[in-house]
Amino acid sequence: MSAATSPPQSFRIVSSPENDWILSPRATIKVRRQPQSAHSGNDNSPSLERALEKMRALGYQSPPDTKLFSATVLTSTDCNFRCFYCFQNEKTEEDVVRRIPKMRLTVPQASRISLWVKNRMEKAGCDRISLLLFGGEPLLSPHACLALLNGMQDKLEHAHMISNGYMLTMETATALADAGLESIQLTFDGNNRDHDAVRSTTGGQPSYRRIIRNLATAVDDTPLRIGVRINVTRSNIDGVPGIISDLVDNVQDLSRLTLSFAIVRDYSWNRDLETQQAKDTVDSMACSLLDAAQTAHKAGMLLGKPASNDCAFCAGTPGHTGAVVTPDGGLYSSWETAGRADYKVGDIYAGYQVDLESKWLSCHDFYEDNQQAATVSQKIRSAYEGRLLDYLYSP
Ligand code: SF4
Repeated sequence: MSAATSPPQSFRIVSSPENDWILSPRATIKVRRQPQSAHSGNDNSPSLERALEKMRALGYQSPPDTKLFSATVLTSTDCNFRCFYCFQNEKTEEDVVRRIPKMRLTVPQASRISLWVKNRMEKAGCDRISLLLFGGEPLLSPHACLALLNGMQDKLEHAHMISNGYMLTMETATALADAGLESIQLTFDGNNRDHDAVRSTTGGQPSYRRIIRNLATAVDDTPLRIGVRINVTRSNIDGVPGIISDLVDNVQDLSRLTLSFAIVRDYSWNRDLETQQAKDTVDSMACSLLDAAQTAHKAGMLLGKPASNDCAFCAGTPGHTGAVVTPDGGLYSSWETAGRADYKVGDIYAGYQVDLESKWLSCHDFYEDNQQAATVSQKIRSAYEGRLLDYLYSP
């Protein structure tokens, strides 16, 4: 088999007041705005249309062929936090909200999954693995994380983790880095007060200070890089500069932090989507985020670059460019569907099911039910990322 090829993805367009930016899996292109030709959804300016046409002709909508197989393994579907908005909460028929079934990966099962991933990688025509350790909270199964890293070590190109950071002790961070983990993404839900109001442990313990401490130790005492993701809402955005100050005050080598923002869907936006107030919200939140990003950048942090729509997990034929695996060996199309029985698309023992139509969903497809709230959050994201690209690529 030849190298894995994903099917063409659509371009993503983000806009600042001066420019439209086309994000593709191969390149990021700036298109200067003509006066009065703001991009707004379907009415692209002629110059933007011309640039898109040129990029299509060059094949820029398709990701480059890759020999990299992207594997996400959930080492625990359980979590030591109970964030009310958790993407792994689901509603029962009685309308009760509960987590997806709780499972933890064992060391012997981690060895089986490692072998399956390496096998699948070869069948997909790839020769290296990009591994993501995922949860729930992956550090609820630290030995299984190490077993996966060790089991795939001879084929690992990259290894990352998404964690809430509460259990990232120096010993754990050191062991993970020694086994080949390169980076960990940690999330804040606002400043100390806002974060602790949402992200406390199941036992009710606050977590902000401890995560800042763990993050500082991981950066200063190991080679790990840390992705700092800040979940932003209308109500916590004023506290974002406080998080940046806490990082500056506590971390010595800020160049090993990469900052990014995630705009949380706000269901109250459903009511006022087309109002002037909603438009003002988009602008003022985008400007506040850019201010915070510039402060962080000037202090030495890196800034996460806006991404295209390309995804190696769910874009290709099942298991062709990547795989998402749960602790019981279940296979799923995306992070959002992982662990939900109705969306299981196979397992590592029997492979992928043949008829997958309704179950093969990307993370984006999974949330199509709430387009209005999603639309405003996407607008804020686009307005911020357009300004960020102007800032990063200004002459
Ligand atoms: S830390 Fe992450 S996985 Fe855990 S409850 Fe919160 S959102 Fe869910």
